[in-house]
Amino acid sequence: MFLDPDRPIATCTQPSCENCPLAEQIHCHFGGRDLGKFLASAFPVFLLGGIGLYRFGLGPFALWVAFILAYFGLIEIRVMCSHCPHYAEEGSSLKCWANYGSPKLWRYRPGPMSLTEKIVFLAGILFIVGYPVAVFLWTSQWLWGMAEVFFIAAFFVYMQASMCNQCMNFACPLNRVGQTTRRAFWERNPRIRKAWKRES
Ligand code: SF4
Ligand code: SF4
Repeated sequence: MFLDPDRPIATCTQPSCENCPLAEQIHCHFGGRDLGKFLASAFPVFLLGGIGLYRFGLGPFALWVAFILAYFGLIEIRVMCSHCPHYAEEGSSLKCWANYGSPKLWRYRPGPMSLTEKIVFLAGILFIVGYPVAVFLWTSQWLWGMAEVFFIAAFFVYMQASMCNQCMNFACPLNRVGQTTRRAFWERNPRIRKAWKRES
């Protein structure tokens, strides 16, 4: 179901993860706990947004759901996840904490995201969280709007503080891993280092 926590990831050239100082700094392996924490923190945003849009109309709700499925199933995987070391693992779908189960339709593309990819990635997120808020404000449902903004802010702060600061996808514009840690990770993952050198 998840990667073997004792085995280095596919791009890593180390013989073993034992005593690796990066194990505490970079999230190389994911488990059910990570997936559960991510889903629990995102759940209120999607629940409240979904209920609000459904009450507004079936059409707007269906549009939102269709976009979410297309975004997390196809678009985000292409523009962001295909740059992630986790994408290099064997198998036809992702087994990480955030996009578990999404299909890997594209090849692994180590190295930074292009400006267009960053814009597409951020615009998609903005639409997913901003659309329900816009509907709440448009229909003067101030309490719903405030609650949704609160859940979005809490989710974002939680992600930045406990996930993005350890995420091995340095290409993501929201990644918060420092340069020293990045360099240490690249030392152990020379294929990724080469791709970053070539493209930056
Ligand atoms: S960098 Fe390599 S050796 Fe270190 S924890 Fe990650 S996969 Fe294991
Ligand atoms: S970028 Fe995040 S969601 Fe995408 S494959 Fe990597 S860990 Fe998973």
